[in-house]
Amino acid sequence: MPVLGRVLRWRHARLTVQLPMLLLAGIIVYDGLTGPQTAPLNLAGVAPWIHWRGLVVLGLLFVGNVSCFACPFVLPRAVGRRHWSPRWNWPRRLRSKWLAVLLLLAFFWAYEVCALWSSPWWTAWLVLGYFVTAFAVDVCFRGAAFCKYVCPIGQFNYVQSLMSPLEVTMRVPQVCADCRTKDCIQASLPRADDANRGCALGLYLPHKAGNFDCTLCLECVHACPRDNIGLTPVVPGAELWRDRPRAGIGRFARRPDVAALVLLLVFAAFANAAGMVGPVLEVQDRLTAALRLNSPFWITTALLLLAVVVLPLLLAGAASAVSHAWSGDPGRRLDAACRFICAFAPLGFGMWLSHYCFHFFSSPEALVPAGQRFLADLGLHEGPTWICNCCVTVADWLLRLEILFLDLGLLLSLYAVYRIARERRPETAQALKAFAPWALILTLLFTVGVWIMFQPMEMRGMTELAR
Ligand code: SF4
Ligand code: SF4
Repeated sequence: MPVLGRVLRWRHARLTVQLPMLLLAGIIVYDGLTGPQTAPLNLAGVAPWIHWRGLVVLGLLFVGNVSCFACPFVLPRAVGRRHWSPRWNWPRRLRSKWLAVLLLLAFFWAYEVCALWSSPWWTAWLVLGYFVTAFAVDVCFRGAAFCKYVCPIGQFNYVQSLMSPLEVTMRVPQVCADCRTKDCIQASLPRADDANRGCALGLYLPHKAGNFDCTLCLECVHACPRDNIGLTPVVPGAELWRDRPRAGIGRFARRPDVAALVLLLVFAAFANAAGMVGPVLEVQDRLTAALRLNSPFWITTALLLLAVVVLPLLLAGAASAVSHAWSGDPGRRLDAACRFICAFAPLGFGMWLSHYCFHFFSSPEALVPAGQRFLADLGLHEGPTWICNCCVTVADWLLRLEILFLDLGLLLSLYAVYRIARERRPETAQALKAFAPWALILTLLFTVGVWIMFQPMEMRGMTELAR
């Protein structure tokens, strides 16, 4: 692209975006620790939970993994590595997504039980914890171990970016075939020093397929001496129904950890939104009162584990057994299940989009009173004018947009499941038998999603239930 291409090729393009993000992160930490602890009045109570999350999913929808591209957490690592060279390779046993799955589960639990979004103080510590962990992991271990194996936000982005329209790819395959230096991957080889840049996530460009594990850091673009790497338009979701070996990841069929990650993120999308709607909050309160508990801690924990661990495992296990038996699939059942589960990602993305866009578009102005208060505290504003932080009317088009996202997610998931079924069982009757159980679960989830959209939803950074 005439202008954008040049900007992105500029060596400091990413840094130019990361530095303002670092400043914003610093402001959020400062305000979260020192400002008022009422979420709508504090930048840490609104900016990360309403605006940043909305922009992340919209970026994934229209571009790709812009969140990792702009990530400020890796900047201290870059500084640290100027003084300490990482000495170790990431332990072989941890080279999977299982650790990240556990961390994501812990995050979703903390989010619901400790109401992270309503605590500026905890939000600030979460951001600080992120900086410290990213720094500690990456000054000890080579490559981008934190991004690839630890970071929960990164894993969220990798899964959702499978539905993004752009991908970092080689431009002319023959140029790569003739290439002897392979600079695009050098940094991921053992003992490579960091000055020798390349893909630290182990994605060798000629074998890279899809956006999974790609942070959009563009290091490969800068490393390739033949200028043979570009951002290419791709069919969103197409990698879900192709089962080819991929650089750095392998085949989805052989990655139960990736399937577990997708399953958790899909069901968490629904659980996270359900945890904010009136009827579910009422059930929680009633159960807490009926069991004479002092707080909803145990009820919330139990409901969350039911929604994101027990139910998904039961449903996926049942669908896998029925699909395999009905269709007479001669392949390994676990391989088939991993592939079908990965095809759920678009529906999960549809739900995350609907949920985060609801908050983003229904209360973008929540930043104003919190920003005014922050500036007033610094003596840079005459005094806060408390507008916009209650009595929000949600526009009609927003509900339609939410349903549209969910519709598109369902259609893409159904299509991906059908393509996988067709590939495993080419005869139409057998393919439909392989397809049906998984399609049933997708349709049930979609129905739950539509029901959630029509419920009154607790607002972020606001003070009332809306709709
Ligand atoms: S992307 Fe560039 S460095 Fe990598 S193999 Fe192709 S030509 Fe070589
Ligand atoms: S270096 Fe690796 S992670 Fe970064 S953009 Fe290139 S392929 Fe993606």
